[in-house]
Amino acid sequence: MSEIHLLSNKNTDQDFASLMINDSEVDKKPNGKSIVLAIESSCDETAVAVVQGGSKVLSSEIASQTEMHKIYGGVVPEIASRKHIEVVEGLTSVALQNAGISRNDIDAVAVTFAPGLIGALLVGLNYAKGIALSLNVPLIPVHHIRAHIASNYLVHEGLKPPFIGLVASGGHTLLLAVDDYTEYRVIGSTRDDAAGEAFDKAARALGFGYPGGSVLDKLSSDGSFDAYPLPRAKVDGNPYDMSFSGLKTAIINLIHNSKQKGIEIDIPGLAASICMAVSDTIVPRAVAACKEYNYSKLCVAGGVSANSVLRSELYRQTTEANIELFVPPISLCGDNAAMIGSQAYFEWMSGNIADMGLNAFATLPADYDHQFISK
Ligand code: ADP
Ligand code: MG
Repeated sequence: MSEIHLLSNKNTDQDFASLMINDSEVDKKPNGKSIVLAIESSCDETAVAVVQGGSKVLSSEIASQTEMHKIYGGVVPEIASRKHIEVVEGLTSVALQNAGISRNDIDAVAVTFAPGLIGALLVGLNYAKGIALSLNVPLIPVHHIRAHIASNYLVHEGLKPPFIGLVASGGHTLLLAVDDYTEYRVIGSTRDDAAGEAFDKAARALGFGYPGGSVLDKLSSDGSFDAYPLPRAKVDGNPYDMSFSGLKTAIINLIHNSKQKGIEIDIPGLAASICMAVSDTIVPRAVAACKEYNYSKLCVAGGVSANSVLRSELYRQTTEANIELFVPPISLCGDNAAMIGSQAYFEWMSGNIADMGLNAFATLPADYDHQFISK
């Protein structure tokens, strides 16, 4: 049997880290004219955007892989990584062209480095490193959850922390105290599945394919919210923590039992009941967090924040509680790179840049310490 020699990655890491951007570039701070090329590849969307001064979107391109994953009923990590590799270069050219700029106009390169599918993240990360290094511009690591919140800065002029942030997506559901653009404190999160997971698995069991949130949302408009009694889980300990796995299981069991017994499912009614169960789990916690921690603004983001029932319940309950509500337009709820470019501006302003030793992290809390990644 032939011997396999593994290269020691110790030296390689050191050599790599020493490939730093030149110091004068590192010390530079952004201004209203600074142009950031932003890259997002944490899940099944490759996205590239050009954002100026943290809020002016010069271009924002998204290549969704949804069709590729649909036949498997969910995202297949290996396929996601391969597709990112295939499209990231072409998509960047399109983003630059649509922004009307050339590579030499780029002042910094921002990239999602956490959290997400590790192989998928590494594609965007290494591509971003290559561009930053070749142009000798700063590399800005952006946390995906922080960026979702930042999608609001792109559309709500004058919006500034402090506020409570709510992110509800396919992979995450959490509440954050955002005290400054780069100062985050997680105050509650799901203990198991994300809200989007409950939507996606329900839609799959009903035969609607992946992802299922928007399909169920549309169907819900013709259904009754109390057509089916679905659980609203409470978890011990932190009152702001949530759980959606019980809801997911209850929906799947209900669908399977009905099919086995030949009972016709009231699909709009089930869709409406799911939307309301998700909303009942999230909205009162978000409002209570604003009250208890004394924040007057609630800023919502993530794919599930496109949900019409969730949005109208958020609006109703924040109005009642005298809390100012900020939600992004539907086009900015899901994954995109414009939000990466926005958050990058503030990370850069705080000096949170990285060298070529930057790694990707499949999991990392939104209140991570920048020192941890810059080591
Ligand atoms: P992630 O960052 O976790 O990959 P996204 O922010 O892209 O997720 O959000 C995708 C999730 O949002 C999916 O679970 C999808 O079903 C859900 N979603 C999208 N639109 C809606 C909607 N209108 N109602 C409920 N869920 C939705
Ligand atoms: Mg997302």
